Amino acid sequence: MVSKVFNSVGDNNDVVSSTGVTKQQQLLQCDYLVVGAGTAGMSFVDTIITENPDATVVLLDRNSQAGGHWTQAYPFVKLHQPSCLYGVNSLPLGKTFLSKNGNIKERYDIHDRVSGAEILDYYQTACDQFVATGRVKCIFDCEYKIFDEQTGLHTAAIVNNNSPTSSGATTTNDDGNNNDNNDDNVVFAVKCRKLVTVKTNVTVPSMRKPLIPVAENVHFVPVNEVPACAKSGKYKKYIVFGNGKTGTDAIINLLDEHQIDESQITWVISRDVWYFLRDAMEDVYHSSDIFMKMAEANSVKECYLTFEKEGLVGRLDTGTKNDVVPDVFKGPTIDNTELQTIQTISNIVRMGRATSIESNKVVCDIGSFDFSPEDTLLVDCMVDNLYGYDFKDDFKIFEPNRINLGPLTHFFNVSMSSAHIAFLECALDRKKNKNKNKNKTNNNGNTNNDDAKNKCCFFLRGPVYTLPNPEFLIGMMYMQNKSVDALMKVKGGSKFFFNSRANMMAPKHHKGGMTKLLWNTFGPKQMCQFDKKLAKKIESKGYSDIDHCFGIETFV
Ligand SMILES: Cc1cc2nc3c(=O)[nH]c(=O)nc-3n(C[C@H](O)[C@H](O)[C@H](O)COP(=O)(O)OP(=O)(O)OC[C@H]3O[C@@H](n4cnc5c(N)ncnc54)[C@H](O)[C@@H]3O)c2cc1C
Repeated sequence: MVSKVFNSVGDNNDVVSSTGVTKQQQLLQCDYLVVGAGTAGMSFVDTIITENPDATVVLLDRNSQAGGHWTQAYPFVKLHQPSCLYGVNSLPLGKTFLSKNGNIKERYDIHDRVSGAEILDYYQTACDQFVATGRVKCIFDCEYKIFDEQTGLHTAAIVNNNSPTSSGATTTNDDGNNNDNNDDNVVFAVKCRKLVTVKTNVTVPSMRKPLIPVAENVHFVPVNEVPACAKSGKYKKYIVFGNGKTGTDAIINLLDEHQIDESQITWVISRDVWYFLRDAMEDVYHSSDIFMKMAEANSVKECYLTFEKEGLVGRLDTGTKNDVVPDVFKGPTIDNTELQTIQTISNIVRMGRATSIESNKVVCDIGSFDFSPEDTLLVDCMVDNLYGYDFKDDFKIFEPNRINLGPLTHFFNVSMSSAHIAFLECALDRKKNKNKNKNKTNNNGNTNNDDAKNKCCFFLRGPVYTLPNPEFLIGMMYMQNKSVDALMKVKGGSKFFFNSRANMMAPKHHKGGMTKLLWNTFGPKQMCQFDKKLAKKIESKGYSDIDHCFGIETFV
């Protein structure tokens, strides 16, 4: 593995010694060093090499393959949004068909959602496509280390993910020497124009230790182990912790795939959440009509209750039971049948967050309950944040010599947001270069045009506005509208936007194409007025329960 990766780095590069690193070294040179081959990094690379035919990239990831958190996802995971909106712009994902002139096409189909395994295959193909351009090197099992200001070089090291250090296994490096339990087999240096990193910190249960103390005798497992444990027949009871997308998937898997009776399941819910209901999203224009009602509501609560009436969102307890109005929204998407399935669970524990698991007792914020450790499986589906969405209030995407990915400039859409950022990087660099050629002295010191690029990126940031509460949805829509508005003013921006497969509104995804989009935008529905109406609502403090403008003042 090591020598294969090492060779793929490139045998003919100069060897450098100036970093002070003593191990075997090579120097790679590129325009962009992209750290992270998850969805954010992959979409960025794809758009950069498409928009800039000269750009060269080194893409590295500590995992053994592309796909980021999907490499460690539970076996029954699927996208919760349609496949046609996910991944890189240059490669379809999910169902395709051949157009009359023989082109491969995708259609927006809310029920077409590929599995985690299919996402990994897809990203492998995307990597092959990148490498085939001759402008991208993909290096896996590779940890980005450090930037040395003196030499201007970045350092990365090949790590051996297959080395079970605890078992005392040894690996061999290119010299044939043994590296006893040594993860850093090959160190190399990269000289690049810009470093691109992913600033979110997506952590799924299988990547981490339990978030709370757990007694040793307890069978507490990440959600990944549910199918095997359920099949083993060892467990009579199940306690599921967490009610976001992962917890919901675990409950549905137990009930539907393993025929576990609802009476065998206890569901620990720290706070109730709103779910998007995908049945209302079958036709994107129908769901847009519902979304636009956001600008008519007078409070966040009214907005969600209107959405609920229209079938766009749902919750565990409606008026018929305890009428719990959720105070969390993270965008999990399920369908009506799945909502009905999870609503069959009667043993719901609402005692706040679980704080520890003792040998036969679950302790929560405001109470505890007992369980029998011998025959109970406790399933960890807890998420301690909004998929690592945590940005300081002065966070910038474009900085001198670096680009920080992660912020969502498009509503819950990492793929589109990263492609958007890569597009701006190219489009506004081009503009700068053109101006520079016209008048060589026209350089205000901002050699990368970073200010202009940042002015096109609106996203939620700061500790107050990145909380996963219901107003987050309104704020994200507001920011997306501003980002799209700014993008339309960039040369080539509208072409990029409407041709991007990750864009939900891309005409090619929907029957009726551009004609239908134009009719919806400028016809009687006046979709074109929505962003103005929403902005006015927020900026005039028209929601009784929102007393701010999501920090928009910090962007201007
Ligand atoms: C169960 C689940 C379902 C989801 N479904 C959808 C969906 O349907 N649609 C949607 O749009 N979003 C969905 N999401 C949201 C999801 O977070 C994003 O789609 C996306 O996968 C996040 O990608 P990322 O690149 O930001 O992060 P990651 O997937 O975490 O990728 C970051 C990568 O960077 C690498 N890395 C970091 N630091 C270093 C370093 N120093 N050296 C080397 N490598 C490094 C990591 O190894 C990792 O591979 C879902 C999330 C979950 C958890």
